[in-house]
This record gives sequence, C-alpha cells and structure tokens, in this order.
Amino acid sequence: MRSHRELARIVGAEHLLDAPPPSSPYNHDATHRHGVEGRAEAVVRPGSAEEVAAVVGWCYAHDTPIVPRGGGTGLTGGAVPIEGGVVCALERLRAIRELEPSLWRIHPEAGVPTGHVQRLARENGLLFAPDPGASEQSQIGGNVATNAGGPHALKYGVTGAWVTGLEAVLAPGELVRVGGWARKDVSGYDIKSLLIGSEGTLGVITAVRLRLLPAPEAAIALIVFFDTRAHGCAAMLDIPAAGIQCSALEFLDGETLRHLAGAYPVGQVPSAAEFALIVEVDGTRAEAEAQRRALLEVLAGTTDAAIAIHEPQDTNALWRWRDGFNGAVTAVRGAKVSEDVAFPVEHLAEGLDRFAEIAAQHGLRSCAWGHGGEGNVHATVLIDPRRPGELDAAQAVGEELFALVVSLGGSIAAEHGIGWSKRGRLGSQWDARAVELHEQIKRAFDPKGLLNPGKKLAVSPR
Ligand SMILES: Cc1cc2nc3c(=O)[nH]c(=O)nc-3n(C[C@H](O)[C@H](O)[C@H](O)COP(=O)(O)OP(=O)(O)OC[C@H]3O[C@@H](n4cnc5c(N)ncnc54)[C@H](O)[C@@H]3O)c2cc1C
Repeated sequence: MRSHRELARIVGAEHLLDAPPPSSPYNHDATHRHGVEGRAEAVVRPGSAEEVAAVVGWCYAHDTPIVPRGGGTGLTGGAVPIEGGVVCALERLRAIRELEPSLWRIHPEAGVPTGHVQRLARENGLLFAPDPGASEQSQIGGNVATNAGGPHALKYGVTGAWVTGLEAVLAPGELVRVGGWARKDVSGYDIKSLLIGSEGTLGVITAVRLRLLPAPEAAIALIVFFDTRAHGCAAMLDIPAAGIQCSALEFLDGETLRHLAGAYPVGQVPSAAEFALIVEVDGTRAEAEAQRRALLEVLAGTTDAAIAIHEPQDTNALWRWRDGFNGAVTAVRGAKVSEDVAFPVEHLAEGLDRFAEIAAQHGLRSCAWGHGGEGNVHATVLIDPRRPGELDAAQAVGEELFALVVSLGGSIAAEHGIGWSKRGRLGSQWDARAVELHEQIKRAFDPKGLLNPGKKLAVSPR
C-alpha cells in the first residue's frame, strides 16, 4: 500500500483515513442498496480551501483519482470512489464566510448542510428556496455540484439559479474564484455555470456565493385527489394555463398514494383516489389567498375529476410527509430502482402511462411521483434485493424508459445528475457535435482525467 504521509501532512493525520474498509460510508452514497460501491485508497477531510487545493495538487502530481464528497446523499453513485483514489470529503468546510441580510446574500463554505443555509435565511426573514429532499444530510457544495432541485424549484429555480459566484479548486491544484457579488456579469464565458452541475468532474467547489430573496409572507397548500391519472395530469396543465404560478406542484400516482396513505398527515386518503397533487401558492397573505381562490375555481372546472380537496392546517407536516416518500417506498419490498427523468409537461400523462406499461411487461410493480409542474418524474420499480433477477429486470425497465423519454423530447436526468449510474447516455439526447464539445470541456478542465473519473461521461468508454 502506498504511503499517504504527505496527505497527512496537508490535512493532519487525524483527518486522513487510510484504506477505509468496504463498509465505510465513504465507499458509498445513497445508491448502496443497488450494490454501487467503491474502494477508496484514502479519505481526506481538509479543513480549508487551501488544504483542498494542496490535496488536488498532490493527486494530480501522483496521477491519483480524486473524488469530491459532500453529504453522500446522491442517487447516482457520483461520490462513490468506483475507480479508487482519494475521496476528498468537504464536511469540515463549514464556515459561513458572510451573511448580509440587508443585501440578501450568504457565502457558505461547501460543507455547510443545505438545511442550515435554509434556516439561516429564514431566521433573517429571507428565503433560500432550493429544497432537495435530504437537506439535513446534503451539503450546499453537493447541491451546487448536482444543480439540485426540489419541490420549490418550480417557481424559484434549481440551485444554480441562486449562485452568483463560486470558489473552486481546479486542476492541477489551483484555487480559483469565478463570479462574485456583481448582479450582472458577462465578462467571459460562463465558467461558473459549467461548474454548476458538473458533479465533481471539473473541479472541487470550496465555497458558494448565494443570492437570497425576501421570504414570502404566506404559503397555502392544497392536496387534490383525482380518480384517474389522466384527470390529475390534465389539472397540472390547467393550473398554469389559468395564469396561476404555483410555488410547488407535486404529484403522486395511485400506487405511491397507497404506500404512503398510512402516514398521510391531513386525514384519510379517499379510497377511490388514483392520483394526487400537492399544490402550493405563496406571496403576501392577500396574494396567496387570491391564488388559492383562483386554484379552487380552476379545480371546480374539473369537478367530476377532483374527488376531494384537503387544506392542511400544518403545511410543515405535509412537507415532512412529502420528504419521506423515498424511504417509505423503498421499505415496501426492501429496495427500489428510481429513475429521475423529465418529460415536457404536455407529455407527462403519456410518459406515466407508458412507464407503468413497461414495468408491468417486465413483471415489476411500479409507482411514480415527482415535481409534476416541471414534468420531473421519479419513475420507480419496487424490487426485492434477495432476488437478483429483479435488479436486472429493473435495469431493463430503465433502458426502455430512457428511450421513451428521449422519444418524447425529455431528459434522462432531471435533477439527480448522471453520476456513475447513468453514464454514457448523452448521445441519445444531444447532437454529436454537442456531445463532442462536452468531452472537450472535460479535457480542458481535467487533462489527466483524474477528477471523479468514470462519472458524468457523455459516451460510454470503448
Ligand atoms: C431521500 C432523498 C431525497 C432526495 N431528494 C432530492 C430532490 O428533491 N431533489 C434533488 O435534486 N435531489 C434529491 N436527492 C439527491 C441528493 O440529495 C442531491 O443530489 C444532493 O444535491 C447531493 O448532495 P450531497 O452533498 O449529498 O452530495 P454527494 O452525494 O456527496 O455528491 C453528489 C455529487 O456531487 C459531487 N460533489 C459533492 N460535493 C462537491 C464539491 N464540494 N465540489 C465538487 N463536487 C462535489 C460528488 O463528487 C458527486 O458527484 C435526494 C436524495 C435522497 C437520499
């Protein structure tokens, strides 16, 4: 085994883990139930951006892969050291370098948990809207690296929309700042945006400048139940067509509802429900109330379809229930394979119908939920991990689903990234020259191919 004395000198011996055992969390992320695992030769936990730069410099000089790691909540194997190398865990970069409520901005280091950024904003009367489901575990650097979304991305945009500047370590180990606090900046190519969503394959993010917004005074949520998937999908088109800008428009199909009904915090799920929407509107109290009334009018226009409308007193309980979908559905058969895809909204109904057919043809139970206002579906098959044939069948369902998504003009990766699990598929979605540019950009940032190798590949390695 190679000596990592120099790495220990950079980060301190207590922050270096030599050859962690296979069971170490640093060899996994949230895909561990699907058997995605890596084998890090070392894990480092640098305590400053300068230490991150020195670690990347060491890895580049020693031709060693470097795998940036945030909270490890990724759903595509992005933080897993599949090709070995050094895992660079950002968890000690936890400082808030600046919080300026009157200027609506915050400057956290990469390892600050997402939930902490949200809370700091809230405590100062402000809003940081990106709300991916595992926000107490995920880190702001990981959110930027995956360009994470969540329910409120519908009105307020995904994480990248909130980033005005980044500090990152680029190969071969240089600390670089792009963007800043300027509210307008077209001074060069948009390198900041290239780093956003790059999943650790172009650089290691060490700090993030985020804009904030004044928090809306009020948010009102409704849960609307439908007797068919078609009626629910029609309502998802009717609501924006009526000029209502929802802050969230989430859907659950009938199967998902049945798995989650026991924990539903607002009463009883109607027994005839085959589809549900969680619809939230926000603004000043008067605006939110006016939008609520408008919503009820639109839904009344489809009264034969909306079989019940619930108005929860406790919106937080509703969103906690929503955050629990992933875990609750996983528990039904012990594991699940969930593909995060996006359909153009007008093709969502067709996409959901055909996904259910594909899963049934492969003998698997399926369900789907997601950020419906954006056509973003978490298309899920339930599997028993003790039956290996089911994982193969789930993968076959995934392949047919990706072909369907592309044929309907959608995207094979909506908000969870490409990582390891979805590598090599860009050619099915992009024109050849654009795919070639994608690869050239990777080479320009990372000529030795050491930054998170094997991840976010545009085409499969030959
Ligand atoms: C229960 C659950 C619900 C979820 N809900 C959502 C959701 O609603 N919306 C959504 O978008 N996602 C969701 N996710 C996925 C996941 O939480 C997001 O992808 C999140 O942004 C990952 O952040 P992380 O800090 O855990 O990153 P990790 O999993 O550690 O890493 C993810 C990727 O980012 C890279 N990376 C991490 N930190 C850095 C850094 N500082 N610099 C460079 N690269 C870095 C890694 O190399 C890897 O490629 C959910 C996951 C779970 C488990």
